[in-house]
Amino acid sequence: MNVVVCVKQIPDPANPGKLTSDTHTIVRDGKLILDDSDAYGVEMALQLADAAGGGEVTLVSMAPHGETSGLRTALAMGAAKAILISDDELAGSDALSTAKVLAAAIRRAEPDLVIAATESTDGYTGTTPVQVAEVLGWPSVSFVKKVAVADGVVKADRQTETGYDSVEVPLPALVSVTAGVVEPRYPSFKGIMAAKGKPVEELRIGDLGLDASQVGAAGARQQVVSVEPAEARKAGEIAVDDGDGHEKIVAFLEQLKVI
Ligand SMILES: Cc1cc2nc3c(=O)[nH]c(=O)nc-3n(C[C@H](O)[C@H](O)[C@H](O)COP(=O)(O)OP(=O)(O)OC[C@H]3O[C@@H](n4cnc5c(N)ncnc54)[C@H](O)[C@@H]3O)c2cc1C
Repeated sequence: MNVVVCVKQIPDPANPGKLTSDTHTIVRDGKLILDDSDAYGVEMALQLADAAGGGEVTLVSMAPHGETSGLRTALAMGAAKAILISDDELAGSDALSTAKVLAAAIRRAEPDLVIAATESTDGYTGTTPVQVAEVLGWPSVSFVKKVAVADGVVKADRQTETGYDSVEVPLPALVSVTAGVVEPRYPSFKGIMAAKGKPVEELRIGDLGLDASQVGAAGARQQVVSVEPAEARKAGEIAVDDGDGHEKIVAFLEQLKVI
């Protein structure tokens, strides 16, 4: 079974992030790393390909400046190859344009299954995976915490507020996974050395049959109009137990309409 994993390469969260002053988008001019969220998808894909007894895992990433650092990390985990879409025309792409680009690259790779994370850790609109599926015309299952594939069908447990739904969809399909789906492996030294020689195909939008009017700032339908610092968290309320602690807890929960 051939699996594509959408892998976002993001600025290192250990360094303070910067926004551009005009478009309020994240500055991505330094080294980009594998988004932690996507390590779960890579691990899940490797396990599913193993369980199927064949096939390979291909990474697809859209990132500026021909960036491959994050891809090399995922290749070191065991993915076979990668497709990178990098093009100056992509600057200013919104989530839908990103989805169109990823979908075009995925269609070219002809996988049985696509895996993405539920949301990235830098932009986190959490909308890209379902948009990719819609552009492809494939079924998608979001918030997946458990997934298995057999006889051309994806069986997934989909996290809900109260538990989970068991969902089945035919292949080809896309699933977006949560952080609990599997425990990502650490790349071994052997894996890191092997990753240096694995193929990374770099594409421009023209290679995907797209033009500059469909992507980048020209194709964007979303605009970040302003950005505000997050409000500082207020100090919590301390209740002293003078023998009536249980009553205070009940009153507090009633006020929140929890009970
Ligand atoms: C108005 C606007 C302008 C923007 N301008 C720029 C810009 O100039 N330069 C720039 O670099 N970005 C820009 N972005 C962000 C860029 O387009 C994002 O990649 C896209 O919006 C999706 O990011 P997200 O973090 O919201 O994805 P989410 O939907 O939160 O991501 C969920 C999952 O989808 C997959 N995914 C998402 N993005 C990618 C990707 N790029 N490659 C592979 N897999 C992916 C991953 O599996 C990810 O974990 C802009 C976004 C907006 C809304």
